[in-house]
Amino acid sequence: MRKIEHIGIAVKNLEKSNELFAKLFNTKHYKIEEVASEGVKTSFFKVGPNKIELLEATKTESPIAKFLEKKGEGVHHIAFAVNDITSEMQRLKNEGFILLNEKPKRGADNKLVAFLHPKSSNGVLIELCQEIE
Ligand code: ZN
Repeated sequence: MRKIEHIGIAVKNLEKSNELFAKLFNTKHYKIEEVASEGVKTSFFKVGPNKIELLEATKTESPIAKFLEKKGEGVHHIAFAVNDITSEMQRLKNEGFILLNEKPKRGADNKLVAFLHPKSSNGVLIELCQEIE
């Protein structure tokens, strides 16, 4: 893994949270993107070299809706940039981690993504992401 790519935060109301986090970071979000297949709408903030992703559910079966129901708003995942997502998924599988998807899928921000089940990583949902060339 190369570095933390971003931290994802689940929110109930993206519009309100965009205002809140704009005050916190003293900068506006630079993009909003909906990933219909995942039932999420996301916004991204740059804070120095770091990125924060806010996630709002767009349907009740969305993983974000389920997370909000169970845990409420808060840190949802930590995403790590990898050079080769397929080989990294295989490596982690061999190490005993549980993958939530067998193949990389298309995520927000022009990335291929895969998730590790939080029960195999001390309760932390881990996202792997590789930039699409
Ligand atoms: Zn993410």
